[in-house]
Amino acid sequence: GLAPLDASRLTFTHTANSRAVPLSNSPEVLSGETCTDHMITCQWTASGGWLAPELKPYGPLSLMPTSSSLHYAIQCFEGLKLYRGFDGRLRLFRPFRNAVRMLDSAKRISLPSFRPEEWVKLVAKLCAVDGPKWLPKERSGHFLYIRPTLISNDPSLSVKRPAKALFYIVISCLPAVDEREKGLRLLASQADMVRAWPGGFGYVKLGANYGPSMLAGDEAKKKGFEQILWLFRNENGIREVTEAGASNFMLVWRTREGRLQLATAPLDRQIFLDGITRRSILDLARERLSGDSDGGEGGEKIEIKERRLSMDDIVAACEEDRIVEAFAVGTSYFVSPVSLIQYGEKALEIPMVEGSTGVYARLFKAWLKAIMYGLEKHDWAYLVDS
Ligand code: PLP
Repeated sequence: GLAPLDASRLTFTHTANSRAVPLSNSPEVLSGETCTDHMITCQWTASGGWLAPELKPYGPLSLMPTSSSLHYAIQCFEGLKLYRGFDGRLRLFRPFRNAVRMLDSAKRISLPSFRPEEWVKLVAKLCAVDGPKWLPKERSGHFLYIRPTLISNDPSLSVKRPAKALFYIVISCLPAVDEREKGLRLLASQADMVRAWPGGFGYVKLGANYGPSMLAGDEAKKKGFEQILWLFRNENGIREVTEAGASNFMLVWRTREGRLQLATAPLDRQIFLDGITRRSILDLARERLSGDSDGGEGGEKIEIKERRLSMDDIVAACEEDRIVEAFAVGTSYFVSPVSLIQYGEKALEIPMVEGSTGVYARLFKAWLKAIMYGLEKHDWAYLVDS
């Protein structure tokens, strides 16, 4: 049979790399081009399966100009972080979910499958090699950004399922997240621009979802907004919220009946990404804040609901002062409070009760950080041996 992806076959080409680690938020890091010393690559062929993965110095790939990733967008990627804990250990956060999501992406774009366990082992291996130097113990509370990528490097211009693919993992130095004082200002997308639709591929992490979104993103930035709030016009002509930029969107509001509710759009129609941060917040909120929880946190119980969120409902709630807070959630944005949604002529002001955040955004951030940085023992944390 075909050889499976196998992390135990990893071969090493170490380098004595004396490059100094740039300071966080130095121009080099802000460029977004800085990666750590090594990368892992692994070639797949339709006839033989996965070859032995290779750990080698970070550097350019060699691709034929006809590679079908470049022509037919046969590629997908993942994004997760490596965290340096306050106890000095390195951790990943729910990496199996990223592995499974890449499997879903690969399936949708005709790229090969793999065992998620092996995928996670390879990610962890690269982190173990470069983590100690690039995220030293003195940088507890900091992170690096891991970008696993799967592309077709089949050099045939025929429009067909690729017979060759390349999986690679690089680690990038992302600037430290700035705690935005003012909150995110979102511009609701116009009717002439749709990010995803049922039957499409907006639910997976294909590059094909990102390139075409930049036109609207630039337009938003020109008008003074940070991100686009992507709307989807449903079968009844109702405009629903799907996600915000490259993150999911969540709302805390009071229903007309007066119940406190954490709401976010449901996954069923596959029109936005199944975010791991979104899932984690829903899981934690169900466990710790909902009617089913023991209410150990004190305060009012909150209903957790995956439900369609129409702009009409949000406008009404805003006019009736029922919005408690809103936030964008994802690996890059973490939990970012939203202060304004511009919807056509309407500027919807969202409360930021604590000045730069809301109570729930702060709570979710603190819970997630505790797990990511080892302040709380939790099985979502995956320890990297280094
Ligand atoms: N939506 C989009 C389009 C994204 O690119 C991302 C990735 O960060 C998210 C949502 C959030 O997903 P996650 O929480 O897994 O990072």
